[in-house]
Amino acid sequence: VKRSLNLDYSLSPGALAPYIQGLVEGTAMAKQCARCARVTFPPERMCQCQSRADGATNLGWRELSGEARLVVRTDGPNGAFALVQFNGADNQAVCRIVNPELSGSKVTLQAAQKEMPGIFVEIVGEAVDIDG
Ligand SMILES: [Zn+2]
Repeated sequence: VKRSLNLDYSLSPGALAPYIQGLVEGTAMAKQCARCARVTFPPERMCQCQSRADGATNLGWRELSGEARLVVRTDGPNGAFALVQFNGADNQAVCRIVNPELSGSKVTLQAAQKEMPGIFVEIVGEAVDIDG
């Protein structure tokens, strides 16, 4: 049984506005903990060290380069997705690969595609060792 479900609503980015705006522009805006310096992209609401201590949130925004390493990749009929480690981040992000025809482990953040929220990455060329 195939059914179509259409949702039409707007979500307010709230405290994540710099992150959401960064995704639209192709800029990796991460959160950094003022206490332990842990960096998260996508940003976490509360650092692990703070939730263990007093529960206070003391996180600041920090821009990352957008360069990242592909950790795990999966390809399917609806696209290619990857678990990605962004340079400078201590967590990992699930991303859509915009150029799944390429292989490789080096990726960069791309501006989010219109009307599609999420983290988009492009596989960038890597030097290939050729014998001879
Ligand atoms: Zn912390």
